[in-house]
Amino acid sequence: GTAAPFTTQTSTAALPDSSPAPVAPSERIQLIDEEQKFTPTMGEALRRWQLEDAGFGYDLCAVLGSQSTGKSTLLNKLFGTSFDVMDESRRQQTTKGIWMCRGQGMNVLVMDVEGTDGRERGEDQDFERKSALFSMASAECLIVNMWEHQVGLYQGANMGLLKTVFEVNLGLFQAGKSRSHAAKEKTLLCFVIRDHIGATPLENLRNTLMADLRRIWDSLSKPEGLESSTIETFFDFDFVTLPHKLLQPTEFDSQVASLRTRFTDSSRKDFIFRPEYHKRIPADGLPHYLESIWEQVQTNKDLDLPTQQELLAQFRCDEIANAAFATFANDVKVFRRPLETGEVLADLGTLMGAHRGKAIEDFDKAASRYHAEVYKRKRLDLLEKLNSTLSPFFLGQLKNLHKKVVAFFRASVLEKLRGENYDFSTVVSSERKKALIAFETGATAIKLKDTDWAYDDEYEQLKQSVDDIADQCRAEETKKMVLQIERMVKKDVAEPTELALARPKADMWDQILVAFTEALEKAESAYMKKARSFNCTEEENVRALRTLKRRSWLSLRAKIDEQTVDSILINKLRTAFEDRFRYDEEGVPRVWRPDDDIDTIFRKARDETLALLPLYSKIKPQEPSREVSLPSTADDAESASAVERGEEEEFDFPASLVVFSETRKVELGNRFRKEADAYYVEAKRSTVSSIAQ
Ligand code: GDP
Ligand code: MG
Repeated sequence: GTAAPFTTQTSTAALPDSSPAPVAPSERIQLIDEEQKFTPTMGEALRRWQLEDAGFGYDLCAVLGSQSTGKSTLLNKLFGTSFDVMDESRRQQTTKGIWMCRGQGMNVLVMDVEGTDGRERGEDQDFERKSALFSMASAECLIVNMWEHQVGLYQGANMGLLKTVFEVNLGLFQAGKSRSHAAKEKTLLCFVIRDHIGATPLENLRNTLMADLRRIWDSLSKPEGLESSTIETFFDFDFVTLPHKLLQPTEFDSQVASLRTRFTDSSRKDFIFRPEYHKRIPADGLPHYLESIWEQVQTNKDLDLPTQQELLAQFRCDEIANAAFATFANDVKVFRRPLETGEVLADLGTLMGAHRGKAIEDFDKAASRYHAEVYKRKRLDLLEKLNSTLSPFFLGQLKNLHKKVVAFFRASVLEKLRGENYDFSTVVSSERKKALIAFETGATAIKLKDTDWAYDDEYEQLKQSVDDIADQCRAEETKKMVLQIERMVKKDVAEPTELALARPKADMWDQILVAFTEALEKAESAYMKKARSFNCTEEENVRALRTLKRRSWLSLRAKIDEQTVDSILINKLRTAFEDRFRYDEEGVPRVWRPDDDIDTIFRKARDETLALLPLYSKIKPQEPSREVSLPSTADDAESASAVERGEEEEFDFPASLVVFSETRKVELGNRFRKEADAYYVEAKRSTVSSIAQ
């Protein structure tokens, strides 16, 4: 051979003769046994022969011919196979069936058909027909073996066999004739004429045989559409002669060796395994293909090769897809636990893509050799299955991502709100943007190509969650702010209230309410200023301001209550009385003289002081414009129901104007009278004592 030893050959993987590593003859297998059963061990044998992964890189040939014409002998010499040869000394029959063996040092599968000479005995034409059909459906080249003296015997066994071959072939193509590609497939019939004496040149033998073949062909009834076809439509022909093995052993060996190179050297013009003869069954699909072909043959069903190839493609593509999927499923199950426990896996997208890519790659490697349509369809099926296995991981990660992003958003907003000098809406909007980007980045990273995966809903949910949190924070912030403002109001009204109540005058309430109104106005504008940065809604503002007013009022009321408890109020009355009774109009302390009209002065001071009680008892300015008016909780339905639910204190504004009741007013009056009486008695006594002196 001239082919370089390391050249990879795709259409045929036959190794050149100079192959350095001698390979021991392969063990043959009985592909179909005496009971006409197909062996279950062919897949195993292909593996042993290291052809399982050969794809299209193998060739297949079969031999046909009468018994004991030296077929097996020739095959063993040509291909280094180990087929049974009839024992010369005992004339023992070899085991019936179809045998298969790998050629030595070449990617060639050889089939040896062992029948009986049934044609003569009329008993086994059935097996002959079946094996011819079987060989035709799978082999690139059929070696037709015959003795030289059989050439021209038109009625002989060989011609009967060839008639069968042609009939069978027409049957095969009848079923597949609608498919244009089927007609292009040709099989090589290689006639090997044994014990060639040399008197008749090869050219003459060829002519004789071709004439016989045409006669057979013409005698066959052609199926519809194939009426005008010739044998050359379906077959190429080759003719070889070999000398007598026993009489010319050296010539026999050298001519067989030369014939061998026609099977091994693809650079030869007359190379036998031309690519166009290949039946395009990937090596890994052969066992299933041959088995189903044999099954069809056995049950006498119409054998339609294109359909068989499609069925094979379906079967093998499924097997290949299942194997690829099993590895894939095992690889990706590691994602499940961490995702279930809430983790966000950093490389999930890349890893999912890689595992899916690997599975598709595994599938493509083996399955792309099969029927293109079937392969494409099964590839889509596989992709869909892979995607739907990965989909829960995508969704799980989205869920975890959502949680993580939301938690991070909450934490960073709260963190910023703990600091000083922040603008609430700026904080929220910048954190919100960050959160949405983080989610989108994470989601895009795990959204695989060629899927219908989407995260729009999850994205909307995230927005919703983030906005809910922002609303919560704003509510908290608003509350905090209202409290601050409330404290400010409290502080602003404390002093004016204390002062006014300490020096009771007719415009006492006017002073207090003016201070209160001013403080409240200040508070309201402080609120409005802050509320703008919070993006508060109008509704929220209304509610917050109402609360602010109410609370401010209540704090004023608390201050008033504090300043008007019994002891303090009595004190105030006492001071007011003393100012009138113990000091004169100029504020000079009185020293009672006997001619002083103590009774009148006393009565005036006492009555004027008692007149302060109604003033204290109700918040009422002199000037009606200074009156303050606040809504009660009962005034609006919302507040009323909040009170009912216990969420808000009941607030009755008119009632809150009353500082103390009539009863208390009377009691306080009585208490004061007693104290005033004591002052009166003391004053009287002081004049008596001054007289006594
Ligand atoms: P098969 O039944 O066609 O496979 O034939 P075998 O290979 O078993 O051989 C049958 C007999 O023919 C054996 O005894 C062989 O030794 C003998 N034989 C093999 N090759 C030749 C040959 O080229 N010429 C002759 N005359 N005998 C051969
Ligand atoms: Mg044999």
